[in-house]
Amino acid sequence: MLFRHFFTRTHKIILSLAIFFVAVALLIQLDNPDTLNAKPDRNLAAVSQPTSLQSLQSPQSPQSPQSPQSPQSPQSPQSPPASEPETQSYLIKKGDTLSDIFESKGIPASVLHQVLEADVEYLSLETLQPGKRVTFKYDRHRALEALVLRIDAARTITFAIQDDGAFVARKEESETHWYSAITRGAIKGSFYASAVKSGLSDAEVAEVANLLKSKIDFRRDLRSGDTFTVITGREMTHDSPTGRQRIEAVSLLRGLKAYNAFLFDDGNYYNETGESVLLAFLRWPTEKRFRISSSFSSDRLNPITGRRSPHNGVDFATPVGTPIVSTGDGVVSRVGNHRFAGRYIDINHSGTFETRYLHLSKVLVKQGQRIKRGQKIALTGNSGRSTGPHLHFEFHVNGQPVDPLTADIPTAAKVPDVKLASFKAQVSKQLASMQSQISLDVILATGSPQPTRTTKENEGLHDIN
Ligand SMILES: [Zn+2]
Repeated sequence: MLFRHFFTRTHKIILSLAIFFVAVALLIQLDNPDTLNAKPDRNLAAVSQPTSLQSLQSPQSPQSPQSPQSPQSPQSPQSPPASEPETQSYLIKKGDTLSDIFESKGIPASVLHQVLEADVEYLSLETLQPGKRVTFKYDRHRALEALVLRIDAARTITFAIQDDGAFVARKEESETHWYSAITRGAIKGSFYASAVKSGLSDAEVAEVANLLKSKIDFRRDLRSGDTFTVITGREMTHDSPTGRQRIEAVSLLRGLKAYNAFLFDDGNYYNETGESVLLAFLRWPTEKRFRISSSFSSDRLNPITGRRSPHNGVDFATPVGTPIVSTGDGVVSRVGNHRFAGRYIDINHSGTFETRYLHLSKVLVKQGQRIKRGQKIALTGNSGRSTGPHLHFEFHVNGQPVDPLTADIPTAAKVPDVKLASFKAQVSKQLASMQSQISLDVILATGSPQPTRTTKENEGLHDIN
């Protein structure tokens, strides 16, 4: 009895204490909105970065003075209670598609549709490269406010929502410069094997061969002991490489005869006397000329969406099935199919130039294929979003779209007379550094990210094809 009585009293005290502590705990929690607003991370693999990337905030932020209470968003008729704007960053993995990523984050397909629509003039979301980052910015109602794609260390594209719920793309670029390095080698076996052994990448070897192939037969003309010197450029922003590379100069010594190519500031390659070593560009991507249905514009009223946006190319009114030719020598860098751009082809020309052909009915080339100027690459069509059969043609110089019909692009076979003096000054500087054993940064004063690479022993059986 005594034992039972004692136990009951102790129990009552403990119970009272427990009730008291629970009540206190509840009160503390009610006082702390952060605790109530904490919600599980909806994103499977993303890292939450609530305060970073403030500088990338879209101009139409929910705190904008015109609409302090009603952020214009098509996704938020049934919005959850307001919370702090949030930023999440997502590292792209192999095999990811944009629609998978949007789905995993619970963003409606209609928003994906709007973002893709804004990307039609860039096609930047078409090839998601593993290791790159996309950042999602949400407003206080958890509606997507902006999507930021980091293209490389120097470039981002921001897709930001507008008052009408549409997204607009804006490209941002930090300052870049080129660092140069010299690679030397001697032929032993094939040129390909010798050049790779000297430290050039496969793409660089192919580019060197492409630059000199009209002068030299790489299979038959080279002898063991012939030498080559290549200046390669690497694009940098601050101290980080952006991943862009280019060949700046090539000198191949066959016996006593030198074969040279120099990249000039117009993006074209010339020999030491200023004659073009590559075929120049055609202005028109078709053999016949067609009416221009919409010209290049940095601010065009879109006939379908009714919004103002850049028109990064020229539209030609071509009947479906019209043959399209590549306007220059190059390599097919991408073949794709986009909801709005339709079937399309990108061709890379020596790293500096790119051409793009949209709304195709049939593609006649494959990614990675080397293309000659004037070669038939596709048939025109009406695929994607289009007001009627036409070809949309773009020309990019160092990543910037220009008007292909009027821009100062290399269509001539020579360095223009007015620029010859500065071209020759550049050539003598580059030749001096290539012939010298002194490190390049002493002579060019541009700095060199890598020590000069010199290889004497080259072996192998591969060949350029
Ligand atoms: Zn167009």
